[in-house]
Amino acid sequence: MKHCSGTLFIISAPSGAGKTSLVKALTDDLNHIRVSVSHTTRAMRPGEHDGVNYHFVDRAEFERMNAQGDFLEQAEVFGNCYGTSRRALQQTLDQGHDLILEIDWQGAQQVRTLMPGTRSIFILPPSQQALRQRLTNRGQDSDEIIEGRMREAVSEMEHYDEYEYVIINDDFATALEDLKAVFRANRLQRDGQQQRHGELLKQLLA
Ligand code: 5GP
Repeated sequence: MKHCSGTLFIISAPSGAGKTSLVKALTDDLNHIRVSVSHTTRAMRPGEHDGVNYHFVDRAEFERMNAQGDFLEQAEVFGNCYGTSRRALQQTLDQGHDLILEIDWQGAQQVRTLMPGTRSIFILPPSQQALRQRLTNRGQDSDEIIEGRMREAVSEMEHYDEYEYVIINDDFATALEDLKAVFRANRLQRDGQQQRHGELLKQLLA
């Protein structure tokens, strides 16, 4: 049977909006979804693992890969380089899995141009106050650092209107249901269903 190719999804959010936890819960629940592992030059944070959260590379390696055309998209985000390698991407889609790119608005703009059927989702926090609280909870940072993160978050959120779907993460369970609804509805589109259920359709119409 011909495999129906999966859909590419972009999910963007400011730091502190809960994107990573939502994506983790989504992929635990819906098993046809995969998440792309980006390359980055930023330092590994405690609890992160190379090859799981990111492929951690130095700037020379990143630039070499970029010059070779290894990246579908790449961007500098607040002083570090990030890029999506093309290699795993097409293979995952060809296997019929949906694939999530957790990338920033700059990467999203590049991918929309290169891969027209891409769906895009922006996750927002419920208020500036809640966002500040979440950015503060992360560690023992100075006010100056927290204000810097708030400015970065606002500059990412300014691009929310370039996305097809907007999810507000106030209550986690509700935001997760909203996110699942987007993936489920996409999976029910006729073209894909015709390919996945060809035999059934043949029998029903016999
Ligand atoms: P963090 O360093 O906190 O994990 O991510 C910082 C920002 O970089 C986030 O907005 C995240 O979505 C974005 N990002 C992560 N990977 C990529 C990527 O491969 N490409 C682009 N353009 N942005 C990325």
